[in-house]
Amino acid sequence: MTIIDGKTMAQKVREDTQQRTAALKKKGVTPCLAVVLVGEDPSSLSYVTGKEKALAEVGIDSRDIRLTANTTEEVILSLIARLNADKGVHGILVQLPLPRHIRESVVIDAIAPKKDVDGFHPISVGNMVLGKKGFLPCTPNGIVYMLKEIERKLAFSLSGAHAVIVGRSNIVGRPLGILLSQKSVNATITICHTGTRNLSEMTLQADILIAAAGKPALITGDMVKNGAVVIDVGVNRVSVPTAKKGYRLCGDVDFDSTAKKASFITPVPGGVGPMTIAMLLRNVVDAAEMGT
Ligand code: NAP
Repeated sequence: MTIIDGKTMAQKVREDTQQRTAALKKKGVTPCLAVVLVGEDPSSLSYVTGKEKALAEVGIDSRDIRLTANTTEEVILSLIARLNADKGVHGILVQLPLPRHIRESVVIDAIAPKKDVDGFHPISVGNMVLGKKGFLPCTPNGIVYMLKEIERKLAFSLSGAHAVIVGRSNIVGRPLGILLSQKSVNATITICHTGTRNLSEMTLQADILIAAAGKPALITGDMVKNGAVVIDVGVNRVSVPTAKKGYRLCGDVDFDSTAKKASFITPVPGGVGPMTIAMLLRNVVDAAEMGT
C-alpha cells in the first residue's frame, strides 16, 4: 500500500503557477484573487486563511474581504458587481457555505464567468459537462490530477476502471463523476448517495473509491476491494477534548482498516486538500493570463 502524498503532488503545480505568475508580473500584470468571507464560521475562516497563504507563496495577490454574518444579499451582490468590473481583480472566490439568509445560487450566478475560478457558475458547469474549455471546480480537478499522476508513475490504468463516488454534491461528487467519465479519462462511474440501497455492495466493486460524504469513517476496510485506489475527500472535525484545538481532523475513510486493502490511499489531512488549493492557484493564473 502506498500513501498518496498530496502535498508533494501539489508542489509541482504550485511551482508551475509561481513561474507563470512571475512571467505575468514581468508584463505588468499581478494575478489577483478577491476572497469574500461572510461570517465567522471557524472552518471557513481556516480554509480562507490557508488559501490566502498559498496565494501569497506563489506571488498572487489576494484582496481579503470579510463581511459580518448579518450582511444582506443585496450588499453582497453589489460587492460582486464591483469586483466583476474591477480590472485589477482576475478571480472572485466566495467562501461557502454562506449564512442561511443568503441564497448561494444567486450569489454564484452573479460572479462573471471569466472570474469564476471556483468553477461553480452554471456557465462553467455547462462547459465542463460539454467538455469545453472553462474553469473546472478545484477539488474534482485536483482528484483527477492525482489519479492521472498515479497512472503515469505506476502500473494502474484509469481507462476502463470502475470509479465509485460516495457523494453527489455540486462541488465534489457530481462534477467528479462528469470529469472521470470524459473520454480523456475513460473511467466507468457509479455515484452513491443516501438513497443508495446497499452502499458496501457498490463500494466493493470499486477499482477507484472516492469518499466525499462528510461522514467520519463511513468507509471501512470491509467495504473496499483488495488493491483499490482510495481517495478520501472528507474533512471532518471530531471532538477530542485532550487535543490542543479540542478536535482532530479526519476523513470519510477509516484509514487503518482501509489501508490494509487499498493499493493507494490519500491521508487526511495532506491528501486531497493541498491539491484543491493548487488547482485554485492554477485557475487564478489562467484567469489573469486571459485578462479581465
Ligand atoms: P455535502 O454537500 O454535504 O454532500 C455530501 C454527499 O454525501 C451528499 O450527496 C450525501 O447524499 C452523501 N452522503 C452523506 N452521507 C452518506 C451516506 N451515509 N451514504 C451515502 N452517501 C452519503 O458535502 P460536500 O460539500 O460534497 O463535501 C463532502 C466532504 O468533503 C466534506 O467532509 C467536506 O468537508 C469535504 N471537502 C473537502 C474538500 C477538500 O479540498 N479536501 C473540498 C470540498 C469538500 P444526499 O445527496 O443523498 O444527501
